Amino acid sequence: MQIHLVLRIGEIFLKKSNRHQFLYQLERNLRAVLRAHPGSALQRFHGRYTVTCEDTRQEAVIASLGRVFGLTSVSPAVPVAPVPEVFAEHAIALVRELPCPPASFCVKARRTDKRLPFTSVELERDVGGAIHETLGIPVNLTEPELVVELHAGQDLSFVCVGRHPAPGGLPVGTSGRLEALLSGGIDSPVALWMMLKRGATVNATSFYSPPWVGEEARQKVEALCRALRPWGGPNRLHMVAYGEVQKVLRECRPHKLATVLYRRMMLRTAGLIAQDNRALALVTGECLGQVASQTLPNLVAIEEASPLPVLRPLLGLDKHEVVSLARRIGTYDTSIIPCADSCTLFAPDNPETHAHMDEVHRAEEGLDLHAMALELARAAICVRFTDDPLPP
Ligand code: ATP
Ligand code: MG
Repeated sequence: MQIHLVLRIGEIFLKKSNRHQFLYQLERNLRAVLRAHPGSALQRFHGRYTVTCEDTRQEAVIASLGRVFGLTSVSPAVPVAPVPEVFAEHAIALVRELPCPPASFCVKARRTDKRLPFTSVELERDVGGAIHETLGIPVNLTEPELVVELHAGQDLSFVCVGRHPAPGGLPVGTSGRLEALLSGGIDSPVALWMMLKRGATVNATSFYSPPWVGEEARQKVEALCRALRPWGGPNRLHMVAYGEVQKVLRECRPHKLATVLYRRMMLRTAGLIAQDNRALALVTGECLGQVASQTLPNLVAIEEASPLPVLRPLLGLDKHEVVSLARRIGTYDTSIIPCADSCTLFAPDNPETHAHMDEVHRAEEGLDLHAMALELARAAICVRFTDDPLPP
């Protein structure tokens, strides 16, 4: 049996003249997600989106839609004839089916077919009265536990009870392109996700150090990308073999600056890869003060080497906030798999926490930094993910 799902959009409503561009991209993303669910289809009527799908797939489709940025919630809906008694009959049946009866409820009706012989207020009153009389549940118009929604339209009228949350944000593909520095840790996948949430198209660059940190690091970062794909995550992962360059940078003095120098070279290289892929900025998972390399002076010293602006969506979050996001988005279990990171591999025992720009420049003296970054970027391996839940 085919069932209907009603989709709700959030922030896109605030857009004015360019709203149609956001809706166009949202529709593309929804169609791409629904391709994984044979028999499902998207419809739009009177500014509302609905999806039809086989009832056996309802849960899976709701789960997929729950990862589409731009949507705020999804509700199963029962199509009905636009007659108050019929609305009431179905609403009562749906409320009865709930696993636990709500402490209070209210009815919200929207009538888009102005030819119907009742107003939305009359419909709310009739159906609300019928539910209250039949099931004895109190009405609460200000803070109801359950909202029963009725839609009386020209093409379709329906009742829906209950909402499944969707992530909000803006449709991926509406905010330009970014390149995220993705390590195997907890933070950077969350940072990438946050930029997807704001509608950016985000690809990833990761540094590993074969043979010291090899295959397992590559597999871990690939697994993180796959975990982010249902959210519209990277279409491409650029893997940069970094070990030999790290060995050169390790010889720079003072050695306590090594981590800052590794990071500077990462930004130079990722910046070149980003420019090659038409990205306008880089993204990192840095949080202010979290570790030695993320003190304010070090962040400034690291960023100075970047050819592009660096966005740090996690800057003001505590670790436990990042961890709970990582759990929610499904990257945490992969992130905690033990695996060495390029930067910890040749890390100094006493890393600098207050890098001075002149000292950093002296440490890098004599190196052809641009040529090194160019060579790293040129030799990067590109992994493409083609099992598109979202269009590129
Ligand atoms: P994460 O959990 O994201 O690894 P972290 O707390 O371990 O972060 P650092 O190791 O200091 O922090 O890294 C800071 C940021 O630098 C990371 O969030 C990531 O954006 C980038 N980065 C670090 N190592 C790598 C790497 N091997 N490849 C790509 N980017 C990296
Ligand atoms: Mg790390």
